Amino acid sequence: MHELSIAKSVLEGVRAELARRPGARLQKVGLRVGELSGVNADALSFSFEALVKGTEMESVTLEIERGPRRQRCPDCMNEFAVENGDLACPSCGARVTECIGGRELEFTYLEFEEP
Ligand SMILES: [Zn+2]
Repeated sequence: MHELSIAKSVLEGVRAELARRPGARLQKVGLRVGELSGVNADALSFSFEALVKGTEMESVTLEIERGPRRQRCPDCMNEFAVENGDLACPSCGARVTECIGGRELEFTYLEFEEP
């Protein structure tokens, strides 16, 4: 399953960060999943929970935020989030714009418990 291998790499990223903060207790992990990444957020949450179950990370919550598709207009350099699948530039009306975002899968934050 695609999402399971992604959940594994998310977990590796989290562990690498924890290794740099000895003694810190992680509470929450924020993740942004781009709309074009092809990742199913529910399946990813489920896989993550299955992976951390019974480990020291069991209490960690994964919060997934959807990242919208973003385009840039080559005519006026306007950057915008796509709504309703409309790729035309909202600023100058150019019909051909390039995709600059929406495929990302990245951490937005790691929230630690105060000591
Ligand atoms: Zn434009």
